[in-house]
Amino acid sequence: MERTRPNILLTGTPGTGKTSTSEELAEKLGFKHLNVSEIVKSHNCHEGRDEEFDTYILDDDKLIDTMEPMVESGGCVVDFHTCDVFPERWFDLVLVLRANTDVLFDRLTERGYSDKKRNENMESEIMQVVVEEARESYAEEIVHEVQSNTVEDMDSNVERMVSWVAAWQANNA
Ligand code: ADP
Ligand code: MN
Repeated sequence: MERTRPNILLTGTPGTGKTSTSEELAEKLGFKHLNVSEIVKSHNCHEGRDEEFDTYILDDDKLIDTMEPMVESGGCVVDFHTCDVFPERWFDLVLVLRANTDVLFDRLTERGYSDKKRNENMESEIMQVVVEEARESYAEEIVHEVQSNTVEDMDSNVERMVSWVAAWQANNA
């Protein structure tokens, strides 16, 4: 697949800042922000809800078929809390956002998560579940882990990505 612009995957535990960072980044770059949770709902890429875990049961094949035409020409910032469902070939860069436990606690509480759901997500962040998933799913040189605790972190992550995209485009022109 030839792309003139790269695709970036922003992943991380819920509450680490994927959507806020993706929105800012996509706007700066003039890229499309693909919020995968919204695509799952709007295109019905699920097989109902898992009531125990309070999440959708993903229909992976339908999700991939739905997203393929959206990502094929590049220029996408893809935002999702899990990263092993996508074909490896889609992404030129994978950014894993991290947050400290106390920060995540406050953000998930503010979001109105149940104690159970909040605890599961905090445990997942502590256990580095998404980082490991990213390292297993993509080439190690394209996976980067960054802190997302403060607004300064977010700004620096966005700036870093903007520079990276400029370099990518210079190399792939
Ligand atoms: P996600 O999409 O990963 O679930 P969000 O982008 O929705 O996370 O962020 C969750 C909350 O945390 C929002 O209120 C957002 O404004 C805040 N937030 C996210 N990242 C940061 C950051 N780096 N610094 C300060 N607040 C942040
Ligand atoms: Mn989000």
